[in-house]
Amino acid sequence: MEEVTPPYRSWVYVSREQIARNYRAVREAVGVGVEVAGVVKANAYGHGALEVSRVLLAEGARWLAVSSVDEGVQLRVGGIREPRILVMGGFVEFECDALVAYDLTPAIHSLEQLARFDRLAAAAGRPLPYHLKIDSGMGRLGTRAGAAEIVAAVEAATHARLDGLMTHFASAADYTSPQTAEQLAYYHSICDRLNAAGIRPPYLHTSSSIPIAYGRREGWHTLVRAGHALYGYISPARGEAPPPVLHVAPVLTWKARVLAVKEIPEGARVGYGGTFRAPRAMRIGVVGAGYADGVFHRLSNRGKVIAAGKLTNILGTISMDLTTIDLSHTTALAPGDEVTLLGREGDCSLDAQEIARVAGTISYNILCSISERVRRVYV
Ligand SMILES: *Cc1c(COP(=O)(O)O)cnc(C)c1O
Repeated sequence: MEEVTPPYRSWVYVSREQIARNYRAVREAVGVGVEVAGVVKANAYGHGALEVSRVLLAEGARWLAVSSVDEGVQLRVGGIREPRILVMGGFVEFECDALVAYDLTPAIHSLEQLARFDRLAAAAGRPLPYHLKIDSGMGRLGTRAGAAEIVAAVEAATHARLDGLMTHFASAADYTSPQTAEQLAYYHSICDRLNAAGIRPPYLHTSSSIPIAYGRREGWHTLVRAGHALYGYISPARGEAPPPVLHVAPVLTWKARVLAVKEIPEGARVGYGGTFRAPRAMRIGVVGAGYADGVFHRLSNRGKVIAAGKLTNILGTISMDLTTIDLSHTTALAPGDEVTLLGREGDCSLDAQEIARVAGTISYNILCSISERVRRVYV
């Protein structure tokens, strides 16, 4: 069959090779003896959970981490069989059957849930593994029970098998705050009390991308959970952070096509509400992506895109399907040509952190917001 140009108005290229490079960089940074779980929740931060998981498996990953049972089921159904899949959000009653049927490992975050999981393991007739999540100060999921209660609950759970003990930091990037050190001290105190009772889970883990990237080695233990870094981002730190020990590069490039190019006179208004008024005669381009594709509405009259190799302004209010940009600097673009919403063109680049600063959010939010409608193309 003749090759057909895919008729996408907006799409992202995801570089498999760059995911693999970033994963290898994380492994090298933490060194042998520390396992790396690839965090592929939220459709791998918009990059495609199945595709990213396949790349990580080809690189030898033995752990993946997702947020919910449903996300874990989708990986299993998609053919991801071998690796352990940690469900970081644990489970509630309606998810029990799928959790067991699809061989997912829950991060259990309360002692009641542990008792429930033990009954599931008894019914399954095999020692189902779990990780226990401690709330060491994040104040989100995780048990706040004391060490003695935890020891009693773990010992009482004779069918379920404690495979990991984990916690999550609230302020890992903030080197002006003592919170991470306090959380680690608390976590260690629980580990020590479990050890003293003869309980030694093989996987101890507390670190996501930031404590990996800034070399907080005391937080690495035997497993780290890397998400953002796999996709090429390390959040900036506050205060006096040590130099990063990890170097990664963005994986995703977001494109959209120009649908129309036109000349407008001085004083003409652009878009809903007429919020942009041309200060001079201008050439504008209407691009086929809007907030339904994940272009933040907050970028109206503030954001930029790369057109014909140069950063140029978004003009007026971003609509559901369309964004208008300034093309006064170029005559090179015609309807059907592409511009870059996120990525690199020649010397010019625009990454999720830069976009996030203008949109008043964080880079994670930018990546996760690229919607289903935007086709993913793996290169
Ligand atoms: C999302 C998440 C991670 C990964 O965080 P990154 O900053 O993306 O590396 C790790 N641990 C938990 C508990 C998470 O929810």
